[in-house]
Amino acid sequence: MASMTDQLTFTDPTTRFRTEGYPEQQQDGPGLEQDLAVRADDGRDSYRGTGRLVGRKALVTGGDSGIGRAVAIAFAREGADLVLSYLPEEQPDAEEVAAIVRAEGRTVVLAPGDLTDETYARGLVHRALEELGGLDTLALVAGKQQAVEDIADLSSAQFDETFRTNVYAMFWTIQEAVPHLPPGSSIITTSSIQAYDPSPILVDYATTKAAINTLSKALAGQLAPKGIRVNVVAPGPVWTPLQTAGGQPPEKLPEFGKQTPLGRAGQPVEMAPAYVFLASPESSYVSGETLNANGGSPTP
Ligand code: NAD
Ligand code: MG
Repeated sequence: MASMTDQLTFTDPTTRFRTEGYPEQQQDGPGLEQDLAVRADDGRDSYRGTGRLVGRKALVTGGDSGIGRAVAIAFAREGADLVLSYLPEEQPDAEEVAAIVRAEGRTVVLAPGDLTDETYARGLVHRALEELGGLDTLALVAGKQQAVEDIADLSSAQFDETFRTNVYAMFWTIQEAVPHLPPGSSIITTSSIQAYDPSPILVDYATTKAAINTLSKALAGQLAPKGIRVNVVAPGPVWTPLQTAGGQPPEKLPEFGKQTPLGRAGQPVEMAPAYVFLASPESSYVSGETLNANGGSPTP
């Protein structure tokens, strides 16, 4: 990979990435990374592998875009083969990721579907077992976030879909996977700064992110005797299609991330090393932990 700088280059974190905020943009559906008015850094030119996940077999949900895409690219550069989960309408984004992964000489299985469907969520485990020949890493990154200003407008349908996508799907996939995960396996879930510092307009979403922290810590204790570690990454504001597709009101995007101590939004590539660390054997004594990657905001 020819690039001038990567994640190991000594740099000032306040100016490593865009500091001037983002344009007011609104996308329909889950949104496409390809259509972001300002492209996100997915690591293709800025993440260098160092052999941390050689031979590993990973399922990455939400692997088409944003944080999941950066995780997929980093995992492939570290030597892992992948199953990617995403929604069917995100196929163009997923194809971009697949091309980058295949250029690394790694295998990628594209598995589009809807995680609110229990059969699909459980079936992902079997795609990996059959098409990768095993499974030892779950990076559960998929999530739904739709801002609603007034509780009067928060529908039961949205409340239900947010919980099914963010919490139930995780439960279904983990439950299906556990009997097949060898000792040494790693499960990584995705919470948020919203778990501790909820925005008034993200009532349903923030609540699921707190649930994910607790679910993960309970499972970490339960699965430890099997040699399976469970950890959480809790991002702060990161520039992804989640934010342009209803996660924030568009008029908030010019200020997005500026309230953090580091003074800017994060980029997906800055989340990837947290997942790599928690997936790799170097974190063998870390379980039940939440790794906050949020620009310096204090957490409990
Ligand atoms: P993203 O939109 O790029 O990724 C979210 C992905 O979730 C989508 O690409 C989609 O594939 C998947 N998804 C959503 N609903 C689905 C469904 N019903 N079935 C299958 N897949 C579905 O945005 P992102 O910001 O990279 O989000 C990734 C994770 O990071 C989410 O869990 C989100 O809550 C979390 N997070 C993001 C931020 C941020 O500021 N971007 C901050 C904290 C936490
Ligand atoms: Mg997407």
